[in-house]
Amino acid sequence: MTSTVKNGLEALNHEVARALATLNYPATPWPTSKSRTNQQGVGDQDLDVLIVGAGMCGQTAAFALRREGVDRVRVIDQASLGQEGPWSTFARMHTLRSPKHLTGPDLGIPCLSFRAWYSALHGEQAWDTLYKIDRLDWHRYLLWLRVQTGIAVDNNIAFKSVRPNPQHPDQMLEVLIEDQLHQRQALIRCRHLVLALGRDGSGKLRWPTFKSWQPDHLGRFQSVWHAADPIDFNRMRAKRVAVLGAGASAFDNAACALEAGAESVELHIRRNELPQINKSKGASYPGFQRGFFSLSDANRWYLMNYIFDEQVPPPHESVHRCERFDRFKICLNHAWEDLNIIE
Ligand SMILES: Cc1cc2nc3c(=O)[nH]c(=O)nc-3n(C[C@H](O)[C@H](O)[C@H](O)COP(=O)(O)OP(=O)(O)OC[C@H]3O[C@@H](n4cnc5c(N)ncnc54)[C@H](O)[C@@H]3O)c2cc1C
Repeated sequence: MTSTVKNGLEALNHEVARALATLNYPATPWPTSKSRTNQQGVGDQDLDVLIVGAGMCGQTAAFALRREGVDRVRVIDQASLGQEGPWSTFARMHTLRSPKHLTGPDLGIPCLSFRAWYSALHGEQAWDTLYKIDRLDWHRYLLWLRVQTGIAVDNNIAFKSVRPNPQHPDQMLEVLIEDQLHQRQALIRCRHLVLALGRDGSGKLRWPTFKSWQPDHLGRFQSVWHAADPIDFNRMRAKRVAVLGAGASAFDNAACALEAGAESVELHIRRNELPQINKSKGASYPGFQRGFFSLSDANRWYLMNYIFDEQVPPPHESVHRCERFDRFKICLNHAWEDLNIIE
C-alpha cells in the first residue's frame, strides 16, 4: 500500500468513527436483561436476533440492529472468513453487473459508501472515470465496512433447522447449528431469526435432467461442473469445452475457460436467439427498492416469475470478453437431450 493510499484510508476511517459517534452508534441497548427475563421463558442468555448469512444483506441487517440498540445479536455464516457471498468464489465476472452508484450496505451514511471507500484509495477523479465496480473491490469494500461498523461474524457455522421452542412456542425459536470445522452441533434459542442466505436460500443447485448422467455420477468435478462449483480452469487448457446456457454466468465461465487456454469453447443454447431486453432493469431504481416489499405476495411472485421467465440478457461486458477469442462460438438451437461421460 502506498503512503497516499494509506493516508486516504486512514483519514476515511477517522471520518467514519466520527460520523458513527455523532449518530450515537452503536445505540444504547434497550432490550435490557430485566425486560427480557420478565417475559416468561426468555432467558438472559438467549439471543434477541440470530442472523444466518454474513453476505451483503446479513451484515447490513446486523449493522441496522446495532444502530437501533439491539445488541444481543449473533451473525453466523457457513463460509469461512472472506468467503461469504459469491464475490471471491464462484462469481467470475470482472466487474459487478449492477451500476456503480447503487448504495445500500452503508445505510445512508455517506462516508460508508463504496464511493467514499474507493475515492479514499484512488481519488475522486478515479471515481468519476470508473466504469463499473471491480468484483474484488466490492468484496474488499464489504469487509472494510464490516470492520468499521463492528460487526462480528462466527464463520464456518451452518444453520441446519429451526422449530418453535417446545416450552415457549410463541416467544422463542430453537435453532440447530453446526460447527463445520469440528462437526459439532448445538441448539441456540432466539426471539427472532433473519435468514439472509442469498441464493443458497432458494434451495439447491439446479441441474437439467439427463437420462444417463446425474450430478452424483462419475465425472463431476473432473469433466462436468456447475457454474457455482469451484473450478480449476487450468484443467481445460487445450481441451474442447461446451457450456450449457447463455446467462451471465455462462459467458463468464466460458471466458475463464478461454483465458485459461481452452482449444475451443462453444456456448449451447436451446433458444434461437439471446434475450435482448433486461426486464429487471427497474430493480436498480429507488421506486422498485422502496415499493417492491409493499406489494402483495401474489404480485411479487408474479413479477419475479415474469422476470425469470423472460430471462435477462447476458451483460455486454461478459459477451465482449468472450468475443475477443476466435476460439469462441455461440450455438443457438442446441438443446441437450442427454449427457454421457466417455472414459
Ligand atoms: C455470479 C453472481 C454475480 C452477481 N453479481 C451481482 C452484481 O453485480 N450486483 C448485485 O447487486 N448482485 C449480484 N449478484 C447477486 C448477489 O448474490 C447479491 O446481490 C448479494 O450477494 C446478495 O447478498 P445476500 O446477503 O442476500 O446473499 P449472499 O451474498 O449470497 O450471502 C448469503 C450468505 O449466506 C450464507 N449461507 C447460506 N446458507 C447458509 C446456511 N445454511 N448456514 C449458514 N450460512 C449460510 C452463505 O455462505 C453466504 O455467505 C450476483 C450473484 C451471483 C451468483
